[in-house]
Amino acid sequence: MTATPQSILEDVFGYSRFRSVQLEVIERAMAGHDSLVLLPTGAGKSLCYQIPSLLGDGFTLVVSPLIALMQDQVLALEQAGVAAGCLNSTLSADAQREVYSQLDDGSLKLLYIAPERLMQPATLERLSKYKLSLIAVDEAHCVSQWGHDFREDYLLLGQLTEQFPSTPIMALTATATDPVRTEIIERLRLRNAHQFVTGFDRPNIRYEVQSKLTPKQQLASFLNRHRGNSGIIYCMSRKKTESTAESLMAAGFDALPYHAGLDAATRARHQKRFLSEDGVIVVATIAFGMGIDKPDVRFVVHMDLPKSMEAYYQETGRAGRDGNAADAWMIYGLQDVVRLRQMVDESPGSEEHKRKERAKLDALLGWCEVTSCRRRSLLAYFGDQLEEPCGNCDVCQIPPEVFDGTVAAQKLMSAVYRTGQRFGAVYVLDVLTGKASDKMQNNGHTELNVFGIGKEYTTVQWRSILRQLLVLGFLTVDTSGYGAIQLTEKSRPLLRGEIDLPLRKDLLVAAKTRKPKASKAPVNDADSDLFDALRACRKELAAEHGVPPYVVFHDTTLAHMASVKPQTKTELLAVSGVGQAKLDRFGRDFLDVIEHYLDRRTSSTPDP
Ligand code: ADP
Ligand code: ZN
Repeated sequence: MTATPQSILEDVFGYSRFRSVQLEVIERAMAGHDSLVLLPTGAGKSLCYQIPSLLGDGFTLVVSPLIALMQDQVLALEQAGVAAGCLNSTLSADAQREVYSQLDDGSLKLLYIAPERLMQPATLERLSKYKLSLIAVDEAHCVSQWGHDFREDYLLLGQLTEQFPSTPIMALTATATDPVRTEIIERLRLRNAHQFVTGFDRPNIRYEVQSKLTPKQQLASFLNRHRGNSGIIYCMSRKKTESTAESLMAAGFDALPYHAGLDAATRARHQKRFLSEDGVIVVATIAFGMGIDKPDVRFVVHMDLPKSMEAYYQETGRAGRDGNAADAWMIYGLQDVVRLRQMVDESPGSEEHKRKERAKLDALLGWCEVTSCRRRSLLAYFGDQLEEPCGNCDVCQIPPEVFDGTVAAQKLMSAVYRTGQRFGAVYVLDVLTGKASDKMQNNGHTELNVFGIGKEYTTVQWRSILRQLLVLGFLTVDTSGYGAIQLTEKSRPLLRGEIDLPLRKDLLVAAKTRKPKASKAPVNDADSDLFDALRACRKELAAEHGVPPYVVFHDTTLAHMASVKPQTKTELLAVSGVGQAKLDRFGRDFLDVIEHYLDRRTSSTPDP
């Protein structure tokens, strides 16, 4: 019987059905044509080039930006019985010779390679001797200068169509807006590329944004519903990652810091623990994550705002790749707004560039403040439409209350105006709430009629109002760097009372405790003992084989096993995620666990 995409899907990867456009992408590559594949994270891009590689007689080259990612993929493929290898700077001379000899005898099916390595003339010359059936360019948005992960090395990849004129190219990415898409096609010189685009939605991720009040306590109460789960917590500064990790450890969490200031060995150790153990939390700056291919990350937290919607989407996209429920949870406050606005203004670069950055930031800030379905507006930013509100975001579940903020806004703006538009948030709010200081007295501001006119709200509430006015553009932060709050063009009609201004009462909402929503693997209570036993077995096997647990089997696969309780190899093979190679390698061990569990259950049933 000749192999087909379907038979490879079943026999090697253990899945029964292709998802969305996978089969079309595979067929297009096998027909020798270029394509651009835009699928959200976790949709299954890898299979799109892995399956063709097992069907042709040549080999497939996979260009991938990160060495850690490559090694992960190669390991996982080896466990599935696929001959894969990689070429990168960390490889010993012996290991490289081994790769080339596998190419010589035609046994290697997939070769992962970093772009800078591939484009070295010596490598190109060497590789051109072999039959290359497909080139897959992963993370293809790295070629775009307007994207957020631009990599110089990717530009060289434009020469590939010249070097290997008869080999089709498949460019893959999870994030690309229209202009980035065009840029990928141009720069990689794709020929008549078909674009495969599916929605950006990640329905299993629940989005939530809280206003930043008591960050540590808010984080602790969020994490309490994630005991034992793996997750990533992003912070702005190195110092903050360390202090956050420390306080989490003190609270009994297995948390590790990760940032570019740690030495390479520590970073590698922390990354390894995160990948290979269950329930590890990494507290990181953005230095962590690209190429993190762990499927069972149950939450991604932002303690500070990310740079843009694109960055947010990508960072939160690391959660729930296995399709099970996951949380994207963020807190943000006035300070984030002021800091990021200033950072953009002070950044080097042309006015044009700053204008773009400002627009990106505004989109993100506006999204934080939305009063209708958060998922819908996230998707809208990427040009996707969601017909119905999602029901799985904070706004859908607990709609924010709004109040008429017109008078409050007028008072705040008057305080800004009367004090000369020269002071930062703290000073202005002190004037409003009537908190006199020496400085204020010297400035004569305690004499103003705006002094103390805002006593109906607390400072915390005023901060929320100020933050919203900044985000909505009724006020702005001075660009000279001192952070003075100033009026804008938009302020005038509001001051004159010509428009009404609904604002969010987010403080009350944030203070309410939310219904905790468990996001564990989908197992019935009845089967959860068996599931735990299967996980324990997986942990041992993983340690024995020196691979991360999810490389043995995903949680989803174990959950499926726990519910159908296969008793023979044939039955086990029918479980989603169990392919022939893994069946041979691990099948017996898992069947033993199931058998043991069933025996115990029968023997512990009391006699009638
Ligand atoms: P991406 O690269 O698009 O982020 P991956 O290729 O890592 O996603 O795939 C995500 C997960 O989905 C992987 O664990 C993969 O094995 C699984 N997967 C891919 N295709 C299928 C399929 N047709 N059926 C079931 N699971 C699949
Ligand atoms: Zn929603």
